[in-house]
Amino acid sequence: MTCFTCKGNKQKSITSFMTEYDGCYIIIKNVPCSKCSQCGEE
Ligand SMILES: [Zn+2]
Repeated sequence: MTCFTCKGNKQKSITSFMTEYDGCYIIIKNVPCSKCSQCGEE
């Protein structure tokens, strides 16, 4: 997989992110993603 930003290699990774829903913050964990090994783009 190739990064759109820097054309570097993307590697599969697990991340967690926080979002706001109905006035409450919820944290979504263990979301599969691909992260660039050069610029960190997810
Ligand atoms: Zn990149």
